[in-house]
Amino acid sequence: MEKLNVILLLFIVLSSVAIVLLRIYRARIIGYIGEKKVAFVLSLLNRKYRVFNDVLIATANGTTQIDHIVVSPFGVFVVETKNYKGWITGSEHSYKWTKNVYGKKYDFPNPITQNKGHVAALKKVLHGYDSDVFVSVIVFAMRCKLKTKIRKECNVVRLWRLLSRIGSYKNRVLSHADVERICSIIEQKNIRDKKIRKGHVRYVKQQEKRAKKMLRDGCCPVCGAPLVLRNGKYGSFYGCSNYPYCSYIAK
Ligand SMILES: [Zn+2]
Repeated sequence: MEKLNVILLLFIVLSSVAIVLLRIYRARIIGYIGEKKVAFVLSLLNRKYRVFNDVLIATANGTTQIDHIVVSPFGVFVVETKNYKGWITGSEHSYKWTKNVYGKKYDFPNPITQNKGHVAALKKVLHGYDSDVFVSVIVFAMRCKLKTKIRKECNVVRLWRLLSRIGSYKNRVLSHADVERICSIIEQKNIRDKKIRKGHVRYVKQQEKRAKKMLRDGCCPVCGAPLVLRNGKYGSFYGCSNYPYCSYIAK
């Protein structure tokens, strides 16, 4: 009898610990599963496509993490994975997008803009290639509804569309030698050091905090100049007073 009680107690303690851990690491676990799902789907591409997952590269102001890069004669696809559920709304140029989960709304940065940063960073690392070689793709890996009206060229897709979208690029823009060269540069520049990788996560969190604080203070999170109310074609908005040198727009 006593033995049974001990087992029961142990079970309760362990399951509570598991639940607490799951709560703390939920976002990280979901992110991990999402990236693995996309990596699996990309692994189904044929041999002409070379896939790199979770690439971290050094840039002029820190490091940039790219979820997936697919190198092929038809272009270099820079894939950003999003693991949001619910209804997703947003437009091509808005600062923020919104996910609506059971009536609760959460904002997140515009992934098209975000991925433009990744493309720019990769382009710099690989220097010498035209912009049309690089293709930005945003993939929503979880069950969600994309309530966005965005040009097809922006490549915002659900996971089941990912392969057909990549496959729809049929023009050869890179030679075999170029593909080899690009792959070897990515191979070389990808930072694998765990300490630097941890530092990157910390850096991103700090940047997010900093940007939020600057917005609260009415400042542009990009250049620090004050934001001013402007009237545009689609209504009024807060834009950076440093325009045209800085084109930041807050929603
Ligand atoms: Zn600015």
